[in-house]
Order: sequence, then C-alpha cells, then structure tokens
Amino acid sequence: MARHKIEWERAVHTREQFPKEKWPQVAFAGRSNVGKSSLLNQIFDHKLAGVSQTPGKTRSVNFYRVDDKFFMVDLPGYGYAKVSKVERHKFSSLIGFYLENNTCLSGVVHLMDMRHPPTRLDLNVAAYLKDLGMGHLVVLTKADKLARGAGHKQHREMARQLGRSPDEVLPFSAVDGRGTKELWTWILARIKGH
Ligand code: GDP
Repeated sequence: MARHKIEWERAVHTREQFPKEKWPQVAFAGRSNVGKSSLLNQIFDHKLAGVSQTPGKTRSVNFYRVDDKFFMVDLPGYGYAKVSKVERHKFSSLIGFYLENNTCLSGVVHLMDMRHPPTRLDLNVAAYLKDLGMGHLVVLTKADKLARGAGHKQHREMARQLGRSPDEVLPFSAVDGRGTKELWTWILARIKGH
C-alpha cells in the first residue's frame, strides 16, 4: 500500500469553522465505541493526534488532510447515552448541516460492530445516508473477534438486514488489518470520481 501523507487539520464545533478549501471529503460515521478511532489509526498507519480516547468525548467534527488533496472527516460517534439532550441537538444540527450542505462530500464510511445486529439507530443513519443519495460503504468493525465460520455467517446476515449484497459490506479489523486495502481502494475511487 502506498503511504499517504496524513496531517491533522482542525476540530470543528460551529458552522463557521469548516475548512474553506474546496477539496473532496470522505467522512466516517458510527456509534460511540464502534472502533472508529482504531480504524482511522489503522488506515493512517499511525496514531493520530487530536483524537480523544474517551468515548463520547470526541464531540467535534475532526478534519485530516490527506496528501494535500482531500480531507478525511471523523464525525462524532452517535448514541452515547451520557450526552445531554441540548448537546445532542447541537451536534445533530451541526452534522445535519455538514452532510446536507456539502458539495465537497464524496462519500461516507458507516461503521457497525460486526458482532451485533445493526441497532435501530444504525439502520436510521443508513436510511438517512441513502436518502441523501450519498455513496456510502458499510464497514463491519472488530471482525477479528469472530471465528471464521461465524464471521461469514454474520457478514451475510448483516448485509441482509441492511438490504445490501455482501460485496457492499466490508469486514474490517484494526487488530489484524483485514479490510484496510479494500477500504483505501473505495476511498480513493470516491475521491477520483468526485
Ligand atoms: P470509537 O469510540 O468508535 O473511536 O472506538 P475505539 O476505536 O476507541 O474502540 C473501542 C474499543 O474497541 C477499544 O477498546 C478498542 O481497542 C476496541 N477495538 C476497536 N477496533 C477493534 C478491532 O478491530 N478489533 C478488536 N478486537 N477490538 C477493537
């Protein structure tokens, strides 16, 4: 895999703070604790600055510059129970603004934990992304935690529940690295097609 130059850009808390560059963007979404920071560390091939390790603490939209050409965008994890209603509203409105008014957005990578059926919130987010007409890839995280047979079965079952074919749902592991190459291929194709 070719190495990419990844640099921390900024944490965005308000609409005014989004970067002004008209670069294409690929965003990452998923519930808190799904393995989003681990996935980003794995695909960036090093530990990232600017990301808190505490679930629910990452309450900003985090931008990374890749190869001075496009942005990867880490959205706040959803479904974290300890966030107040006011804060949740503030963030869903910022994320709604970001996703719905963004001609630079080339695609969204939607993470779900491979060990569990999609939650209602996961299904709502998937339906929302589909309604936006946004190219999105579902990535099943923590695939190393399932034995091979159970993994195949769960892969097919998750795809069925999401109304997708198994080819459109990618098993991934930040521990053994599976899915990394395929994820990069998808991201670069989205950027190229933008
Ligand atoms: P985030 O809240 O979505 O950013 O989730 P984290 O990346 O912090 O991961 C949450 C927990 O899941 C941590 O304890 C990680 O070590 C663990 N985890 C994340 N990805 C994997 C994976 O691919 N395999 C395994 N076995 N554990 C993982």
